[in-house]
Amino acid sequence: MEKIAVFPGSFDPITLGHFDIIERAQPLFDKIIVAIGNNANKQYMFPLEKRVEWLKKAVKKFPNVEVNYFDGLTVDYCKKVGANFLLRGLRNPADFEFEKAIAHTNRALSHKTLETVFLLTSSGKSFISSSIVRDIIRNKGDYSMLVPNSVMV
Ligand code: ADP
Repeated sequence: MEKIAVFPGSFDPITLGHFDIIERAQPLFDKIIVAIGNNANKQYMFPLEKRVEWLKKAVKKFPNVEVNYFDGLTVDYCKKVGANFLLRGLRNPADFEFEKAIAHTNRALSHKTLETVFLLTSSGKSFISSSIVRDIIRNKGDYSMLVPNSVMV
């Protein structure tokens, strides 16, 4: 069976923390789909097209990594693309508590067919978050050490 993982997130914008997870997960799966979940109730700083563009540029050197987006439940998207794994990153205990509930829910919703695989953030990347990057951008600071080169606002 092909091992296909979906890495879902907002990627508003992609950071070096996300990139670290993608780079390290890439040898573990036959295919990874980095998928932007489009939540109609959520306010994003950057439009979907821009977030897709930055992600595509960042992962273009990985032949088994694709970028896409979806509406609705993550489990439904996984079923549609034939993915049997979800990929998520863990930075700290707060991430763990939050992710634990989501992982159990997704497993139950998928009738136990979807396993979530967690990678711990590399040391030195665990402080990075899209919200910190957005704050720096809003205040016209230098965020270049926190994002892949593809992100140019
Ligand atoms: P969401 O809105 O689903 O939290 P994000 O784009 O913020 O979307 O995050 C997507 C995934 O990337 C989550 O699993 C999150 O824990 C992980 N992630 C975010 N920042 C980092 C980081 N610095 N290191 C490792 N994983 C991270």
